[in-house]
Amino acid sequence: MNSTEKQLILSFHDLHPNTLECCRQFIENCRQLGAEKMTLLAVPDYHRQGIFTESKELLDYLETLPKENYDLCLHGYYHKAEAVEGGWIQQLKGKLYTMGEGEFYQLTYEEAVEKLQAGLKVMANSKFPIYGFTAPAWLVSPAAKHAIADSGFSYNTLWDKVELSQANIAVKAPTLVYSSRSAWRRLVSKIWIPLFHAYANNAHVLRIAVHPADFECPVIVNQIYRMIEKALRTRTPSTYRDLVPTEKRMPVTLARS
Ligand SMILES: [Zn+2]
Repeated sequence: MNSTEKQLILSFHDLHPNTLECCRQFIENCRQLGAEKMTLLAVPDYHRQGIFTESKELLDYLETLPKENYDLCLHGYYHKAEAVEGGWIQQLKGKLYTMGEGEFYQLTYEEAVEKLQAGLKVMANSKFPIYGFTAPAWLVSPAAKHAIADSGFSYNTLWDKVELSQANIAVKAPTLVYSSRSAWRRLVSKIWIPLFHAYANNAHVLRIAVHPADFECPVIVNQIYRMIEKALRTRTPSTYRDLVPTEKRMPVTLARS
């Protein structure tokens, strides 16, 4: 990776057996636009709907992707918070804003370690090495952040930056992302996107994060591909893993217990 070039990081969120088709289509369309690199955010057991690595179809598909171009990132375990505790601000952030998806929002260190290890154990059957972590809805408790670094993850993505956990570096990187609620989604696409363009133009690393639900809305789909096309004129496609200095780029291994 040439560090002087501007980067574009595409990420497909919430990959699990039921979103495989959507992901496959997105990867294919991005390839046609010239983006052959992407980070895929894998949920080990999305909403308890089925274990990621028990889908042969999903594993077979991952096998077809060149490992140097596609980076599999651990993304929670169930992608669902058990219960949100605290006052109304925490309730609002944890429940309304994220629709209860903030699984790592209020975890203790021990709880986070347990979930991370359980996730790594599932994903160990995918043959795709894991380097990084992204908390569902980017909500992560300070204790969970420590657990992510201590468990050996090379990076942890947040909404506005990417923490390179083993190198003690945080890379500022704005993200284009749509809301998980359809009314907000439409509003965001009208108001936020033009503002985002102006704000993100100068950023060294730009991120475009897509969710399966985005593809239910043709206006959004159109906008996403237009944004990617535009970004590719001046930016090199990268993965989150590419941000990690080479000497710190190590796949996460399961803790011995
Ligand atoms: Zn997610």
